[in-house]
Amino acid sequence: RRTEALTRAAAPAVTTGGVPIEVGANIGSVEDARAAAANGADLAGLVRTEFLFLDRDEAPTVDEQVAVYRAIAEALGGRRITLRTLDAGSDKPLRYLPPPAEANPFLGVRGLRHSLAHPAMFAEQLTAIVRVARETPVSVMFPMVTTADELRAARAMLAEAGDAPGLQVGMMVEVPAAALRAAEFVPYVDFFSIGTNDLTQYTLAAERGNAALLSLTSGLDPAVAQLIDHVGRAAGDRVLVAVCGELAGDEAAVPKLLASGVRELSVAPGLVPLVKQAVRAA
Ligand code: PEP
Ligand code: MG
Repeated sequence: RRTEALTRAAAPAVTTGGVPIEVGANIGSVEDARAAAANGADLAGLVRTEFLFLDRDEAPTVDEQVAVYRAIAEALGGRRITLRTLDAGSDKPLRYLPPPAEANPFLGVRGLRHSLAHPAMFAEQLTAIVRVARETPVSVMFPMVTTADELRAARAMLAEAGDAPGLQVGMMVEVPAAALRAAEFVPYVDFFSIGTNDLTQYTLAAERGNAALLSLTSGLDPAVAQLIDHVGRAAGDRVLVAVCGELAGDEAAVPKLLASGVRELSVAPGLVPLVKQAVRAA
């Protein structure tokens, strides 16, 4: 029975209309990668690389990063891993790069802004990612992209780090400006990954995690739905659209996301089987 359940979990998720949807897992440790594999994840749709950089006195070396990214890929049996570059900033500060005081850390130097402000550390992370991408299927994506200039700067640094055939390059869409201007980013990426946690907080001006604002930040808000729809239309057939925010794990939201053109969902490892079922019913 257990084997049957696992086989079912690992089977691809296809909608009633015959559209295959990749269901991946969000990962913040090698342990999470094992849980993702046990739950039948098709890939790691989001590797939060912060876990390697926080709570220590110096940045991880290139070799250390390579070892951990490789271990994640191995735990997933060589399935594709989507490495998100460091999403640090004032809300997730690094001891070795103390941030200047900011009144509104969520609107501050975080995500790609932080990486571009610290190019030496960013270059090392990109070098590690390219190295692993030469061995195993890897996607890389940049968090908190706001303008096409930022994305072009990140791509230029990635090119400096070297080539890896098969490396897919994407960006998170989690800032409303990026969602509204999605068409402008299309020529520079292979995929969009919509981060609904931040996209919702920035669209509704309601801090994620603020218990008093739960009604504004949980579920698919119509304004956020409109932005997701817009991203799906801008992407068309040219760029794959994924969702890696918590909304992807909400059964009620799944059919709506698919209708907007989303073709990959990435959720907490334990939710993979449930989301695959939601896809099969959609
Ligand atoms: C998001 O913002 O939806 C997301 C997936 O990224 P994080 O939760 O790590 O900010
Ligand atoms: Mg985010």
